[in-house]
Amino acid sequence: MSSSGTSLSSHAAPFTDTEVQAELRSLTRKFAENEIRPIVEADEESGTFRPEIIAKLGSLGLTGIPVPEAYGGAGLGYAEYAVVIEELARVSCAYAISVAVTGLPQMILASAGTEEQKKRFIPRLSSGEAIGAFSLSEASSGSDAGSLRTTAKRDGEHYVLNGTKLWTTQADSAETLLLMARTGGLGASGVSAFIVEKGMPGMTMGKRERKMGLHISHTMEVLLENVRVPVENRVGAEGEGFKVAMTALNGGRITIAATGVGVARAALEVAVKHSKEREQFGQPIAEFQGISFLIAEMQTEIDAADLLVRRAAALRDAEKPFAVEASMAKLFATDTAMRVATDCVQILGGSGYTQDFPVERYMREAKILQIVEGTNQIQKVIIARSLTK
Ligand SMILES: Cc1cc2nc3c(=O)[nH]c(=O)nc-3n(C[C@H](O)[C@H](O)[C@H](O)COP(=O)(O)OP(=O)(O)OC[C@H]3O[C@@H](n4cnc5c(N)ncnc54)[C@H](O)[C@@H]3O)c2cc1C
Repeated sequence: MSSSGTSLSSHAAPFTDTEVQAELRSLTRKFAENEIRPIVEADEESGTFRPEIIAKLGSLGLTGIPVPEAYGGAGLGYAEYAVVIEELARVSCAYAISVAVTGLPQMILASAGTEEQKKRFIPRLSSGEAIGAFSLSEASSGSDAGSLRTTAKRDGEHYVLNGTKLWTTQADSAETLLLMARTGGLGASGVSAFIVEKGMPGMTMGKRERKMGLHISHTMEVLLENVRVPVENRVGAEGEGFKVAMTALNGGRITIAATGVGVARAALEVAVKHSKEREQFGQPIAEFQGISFLIAEMQTEIDAADLLVRRAAALRDAEKPFAVEASMAKLFATDTAMRVATDCVQILGGSGYTQDFPVERYMREAKILQIVEGTNQIQKVIIARSLTK
């Protein structure tokens, strides 16, 4: 490819890794290659989620990276968290999302929970012994999440929850669901956050969505019929649930952006290898400028996305405002993942469209990243509003 003999894939590890980040990258990559790579294609086909993968990641200390050590976490930052998520996504977008989603209740409880809630719920999540879920969306409230309809009515020392949540990732295997319901009037200020625990009478799983991809990750309807949740399971004050949820999603956007970087890197690795091996018209297709320029653009965009992720993470770790930067990282990294995965399918030609290569899976996985944790249109609304309001 290049006159210096340097292959593009040798640039895959970002030069800005600290020693700790490099160690985490290597540990996560080894685990993902040895334990997830061999089963990922078959499990995507059958829709099999393996909680033991999360437990093993937990035993390596990888499921509670940004959580304080006092609650069983690693006490590191979002910069380190992003490295772990990116490396998981390079092999399986579903397990990257699983770890990120299990992280949401941990981060919410760490910032808005009582001491008792922190001690009771975080350690099992940060150790990977338990799986977490984040349940905000409903059929009539996606982007407009503040208009949710599930109700939580106070009855003595309990709240009684009724309604139907939609699209809750891994609710079927979760022990701890951070769930938003309406305790007050219309709008976001009427929403409160609750910890709903597996086995609470009245909570059942509805349909499991049939999706374009990400089959390992189960997307569940959650039915709530007179579920009695103790008052001590409310997180934050009454009416603060939407704020609590949005704060968590700001951090979550960094992890979704990192997932995009991981998926894009994975796709590019396959395309670079293929372009050097596949010959047409008597030469490797990598020697056609139409292909090589595409590869150059993809590598540049992926590194730019990575830098946006690092900036948002650095701001969050320095406890500075980071919401707009997280939206920019999410927007650019996931759009990059979609563009790169689509172009990689093109570089592989007919083979790219078959399941003989993973790039068609990466393309299907990249698509969901543009939708979850706030669609990319909503990220643009947030970014524009910060400039024009
Ligand atoms: C696989 C998967 C996993 C998910 N996991 C979870 C989960 O774990 N927990 C959870 O709570 N939710 C989850 N979701 C739900 C997800 O967050 C929503 O799908 C997403 O927020 C978009 O909402 P919606 O689908 O209702 O789309 P809508 O809000 O109906 O949007 C439809 C279109 O209109 C656009 N649009 C809407 N409002 C505006 C606006 N103001 N300006 C410009 N464009 C706009 C959107 O960008 C989109 O293109 C998941 C969804 C999927 C598919």
